[in-house]
Amino acid sequence: MSGRRREEVNAITPSIAELTAAERDRILAKTALFNPPPITTADGRRELVGLSREELAAEMAAMGEKPFRAKQLWHWIYHQGETDFARMTSIAGPMRAKLAERFVVSRPEAATVQTSRDETRKFLFRFRDGQQVETVYIPDPEEDRGAVCISTQVGCTLSCKFCHTGTQKLVRNLGAAEIVGQFMAARDSYGEWPSPKDDKPRLLSTIVVMGMGEPLYNYENTAQALKIIMDHEGIGLSRRRITLSTSGVVPMMDRCGEELGVNLAVSLHAVTDELRNEIVPLNRKYPIEELMAACRRYPGASNARRITFEYVMLRGVNDSEAEARELVRLLRGLPAKVNLIPFNPWPGSPYQTSTHEQTARFAAILNEAGYSSPIRRPRGRDILAACGQLKTESERATRA
Ligand code: SAH
Ligand code: SF4
Repeated sequence: MSGRRREEVNAITPSIAELTAAERDRILAKTALFNPPPITTADGRRELVGLSREELAAEMAAMGEKPFRAKQLWHWIYHQGETDFARMTSIAGPMRAKLAERFVVSRPEAATVQTSRDETRKFLFRFRDGQQVETVYIPDPEEDRGAVCISTQVGCTLSCKFCHTGTQKLVRNLGAAEIVGQFMAARDSYGEWPSPKDDKPRLLSTIVVMGMGEPLYNYENTAQALKIIMDHEGIGLSRRRITLSTSGVVPMMDRCGEELGVNLAVSLHAVTDELRNEIVPLNRKYPIEELMAACRRYPGASNARRITFEYVMLRGVNDSEAEARELVRLLRGLPAKVNLIPFNPWPGSPYQTSTHEQTARFAAILNEAGYSSPIRRPRGRDILAACGQLKTESERATRA
């Protein structure tokens, strides 16, 4: 090809970076179609939970208040966990009344709360428009700490074959207020306010974004919520204590790493495109090779901060020793660990979990190759609170 001709081709062939950016814009535009309703009460007061610092400052400026007012409120809302303006005692009485006329600080309503035999607690939260999601608190059996598993969507657009949420159509995305609200309401349930400072022990010590929905298909709301949760003057949970799980939305993974720097978990579940296409249908769009490439460039991944690969153990489907060896090959050179998840059944589910022996053999191959591969102990199965068992009755209203 002549030099001139090559230049012409380059001018019209978009680069990979341009393609990724275009794909990212397309995902964000589609996401916006499922955005939540505005955060106001029936009597027109605006919800303050979920606003970024800048948005909160803008609300105060609109009332003629100085920026320090926003700082004060931030402290009451996220450090003290206060929901009643009347008790925000560092603010003068008349100002408290003015705030209460215009705003609310609230929580999603806990429609039901169930506690499992193993102390796992599942909340069914209902939002202002009646839509519901589930949130799970999983206490550590030995120490006073635990993980809160939060949801990012009502339902899911994807339909991974082994996942109960995947049988529920996407109703809508959750807003930042609803995502932060799940964590705050779970904290209310254990009375863990004010927010423990720095590295002081916390009962609700980590967050796993592994509940209902695909967080990278609701990126902006999820990111806003996590930034609020990580803010040092409020809840102050470190990014090292937050893990976001994705089924592999490749174009959004870089942005997640750059902007949030949280730990990444990737739902791999199969080592060939043929099988992954079938059980994680998103693979048809972003096949294993592209997914692994996105993991390799994930900002912040290192030996100290490994990427977790989740692998649900499905008997006779993806659990052979040959597949374990292929997994080792795929992970080569990546700072990775593997989380083997026994399949959690749900009503009508099409799989069985692998036997203990087979799971142990699978884990041994990974361990021998140097990949830490804990077998996740199922928690809260008796109340359908384990991984992949979450689902609510919410349905999308059929358009007339
Ligand atoms: N949508 C995101 C996060 C939510 S799912 C994702 O798919 O990564 C959290 C984890 O639970 C994922 O790894 C998911 O594949 C896994 N999971 C789904 N259904 C499961 C089931 N029935 N048993 C065990 N794990 C399951
Ligand atoms: Fe959605 Fe994750 Fe369930 Fe797949 S596993 S259907 S991406 S929630």
